[in-house]
Amino acid sequence: MRKKFIVGNWKMNQDLASIDSFFNELSLGSCTCETWVAPQALHISTVIEKSSKAGKSFFVGAQNISENSNGAFTGENSAETLQDLGATFALVGHSERRSLYKEDHALLNKKLMHALSQNLIVVFCVGEQLEERKNGMTEAVIKYQLLEGLKNFPTDQLSQSRLIIAYEPVWAIGTGEVASPAQAQEVHHFIRKTLTKDLDLDGDNTPILYGGSVKPSNADGLLSQMDIDGALVGGASLLGEDFSKLAQIASKLMK
Ligand code: PEP
Repeated sequence: MRKKFIVGNWKMNQDLASIDSFFNELSLGSCTCETWVAPQALHISTVIEKSSKAGKSFFVGAQNISENSNGAFTGENSAETLQDLGATFALVGHSERRSLYKEDHALLNKKLMHALSQNLIVVFCVGEQLEERKNGMTEAVIKYQLLEGLKNFPTDQLSQSRLIIAYEPVWAIGTGEVASPAQAQEVHHFIRKTLTKDLDLDGDNTPILYGGSVKPSNADGLLSQMDIDGALVGGASLLGEDFSKLAQIASKLMK
């Protein structure tokens, strides 16, 4: 059985006081699922420190990375520096990076391959726009994003163990509108098939997370689907109480 994951994407939120509240509210008890969080990069070491004080070691990662190792790239963060801070993973291809920062397929592929070469785990995000879904293009869009973003992805086991896919329909991110469990399951199954057939990867063992308005009240239906291995969570990951509830739901489903 694949593990379940709750991965928080804090975006450009959480100051030191709210990070403290998050850990004070956290009650993970006997949770066995993976608990990961991507704070603002400047807070990575603080979050690692606070999580270990709270008695739960989180995997802490970055929301974005540079495709370069070093040099004249003002304002960028390298994979190497993020690792110095203790990051173990990076999100690549989040829809906000694609739309607000115009990150295209070729750039995302460079970022992903660079993160991998530096031994970071990559959470590669894909998802269709509402118009694309309405026009029956969901599978074509997802397949194209996977083929372009994962171009030349190595097929050895170690590299594959560093790949996680997050399916995040753009119309469900931060909107309160969640994909139904059946809609999400259908796309997750398609992603698994595409990884195996078109990319020669081990689709059956690649964690595939759903993201888009996940909260404690809808998590059970989504996470109990066969091909949904967890959630990438924005808004509901900001409060320790909600994060704990999500982790409890995910852990219960692993039993
Ligand atoms: C996200 O930003 O990845 C996300 C899924 O956000 P939300 O849970 O707020 O929709």
